[in-house]
Amino acid sequence: MSSNLRIFDSMERSVIDVARSVGRFGIYCCGPTVYNYAHIGNFRTFIAIDVLWRVLKLAGYNPFVVRNITDIDDKTIAGSMASGQSLEEFTSRWTEIFHRDCDDLNMLIPNVEPKATDHLPEQIAMIETLVGKSMAYEKNGSVYFRIGAWPSYGRLSRLSERELRVGDGDSGEKENSGDFVLWKAHKASDGEVFYESPWGKGRPGWHIECSAMSLRYLGTNFAMHTGGVDLCFPHHENEIAQTEAATGEPMAKMWVHVAHLQIGGEKMSKSLGNLYTLNDIRQMGFKSSALRHALIAGHYRQPLSFSDDSLPSAQKSLDRIGAYGSALAERANGGGDQTAMGDSFDVLASAWEALLDDLNTPRALGLLFTHMQRYSAESYGTADAKKLLAEWMRMEFALGIPMVKRKSPETIADDDIRSIAEERQRARREKNFARSDELRDELAARGWCVCDSRDDGYELNKLK
Ligand code: AMP
Ligand code: ZN
Repeated sequence: MSSNLRIFDSMERSVIDVARSVGRFGIYCCGPTVYNYAHIGNFRTFIAIDVLWRVLKLAGYNPFVVRNITDIDDKTIAGSMASGQSLEEFTSRWTEIFHRDCDDLNMLIPNVEPKATDHLPEQIAMIETLVGKSMAYEKNGSVYFRIGAWPSYGRLSRLSERELRVGDGDSGEKENSGDFVLWKAHKASDGEVFYESPWGKGRPGWHIECSAMSLRYLGTNFAMHTGGVDLCFPHHENEIAQTEAATGEPMAKMWVHVAHLQIGGEKMSKSLGNLYTLNDIRQMGFKSSALRHALIAGHYRQPLSFSDDSLPSAQKSLDRIGAYGSALAERANGGGDQTAMGDSFDVLASAWEALLDDLNTPRALGLLFTHMQRYSAESYGTADAKKLLAEWMRMEFALGIPMVKRKSPETIADDDIRSIAEERQRARREKNFARSDELRDELAARGWCVCDSRDDGYELNKLK
């Protein structure tokens, strides 16, 4: 049985075996636009990618995740002007709120979380390269990408030529209505928000930030690019065109897209106003963990219809998973010497297999329940309970639920492993990242993966 992940690649349109990278496995995830609360549809995408990332970690892929913060666009500018705050004050506040929600939803922290406004030189340099190669042209202080000069434009979305010509509101001065903006000349509605460039005052278009920042932190041809399915076109199509035209190299090896969270058959979105935020869910009396469970109860490639009716059963299911793990932990600390039934590890092994099989979270959850129905935790003796608890906690970590802190028996990670992890934690605190990376690699070589939390904590999990 292969321990490799298989996942649907939107470029190939088929499930492929995910190859391991030499060194880091670079993942880019298009992050939030920070002008309001993220809604739970946004979190469906971010949590699916969080599970993907956890599975890659446990499967020993050494993922390195970059998720950007879009802090400059029409909405952040309008929001900051309406609030009387500077763009930076305004977007920092919404970024903090986003982080709080992410922590509450037990999402891992990206290795790098770059902001668009911190990467103006990189974006301008890429646009200059494109202009230099005649892939882009300037008109009245704005710069546009010339899609006619890029023959493979549309490769990812496979739309017809007509559908590719969506235009972006400035078509009057473009050579072709499908050309998209790389740099926007300053206009009165942007107020005081502008940056100097070779084309005069202005600001970057939305797509260029992801090309410039992924290039800076992951290079070209990185392992995986991810986002919600609505980003496929035009955003990801444009990212590919910009990066590949500028560098001559492929942007990413594979593309993973998450289907939408819907309400009454329609996409949940800020523009339709049919949304719930995490605050709404809390105010209804549910835990964030119940929302996380409800969002992973469907397969990431199928649209998921949200109804608050799903939350009570998600909460119950979580409680059962948590209680089973705690009962196992008790047995592991003194459960006697009986041995388990022969096949009692097989169901859990299949749950892990389900995650490796195109991230089948509903099947994995179903198998956890099959296991609980078949094998009561009380039937395990100490030795089997220890082994099984390690497997159970690995599944809990992969799914990011039930989010209970349980003291694991000392034997799960021995003293040696713990002391390396502690030393790594000290190195991190002292910002000695080279040393902490070295120690992380040593832990991986010994079969352990370590995950950090924002509050200076960490978790150790056995690699598969
Ligand atoms: P935004 O902040 O609008 O740039 O969106 C952040 C992420 O959420 C992107 O990856 C979007 O594709 C994704 N997204 C937006 N709406 C939904 C939805 N209803 N369901 C799932 N993902 C969504
Ligand atoms: Zn992006």
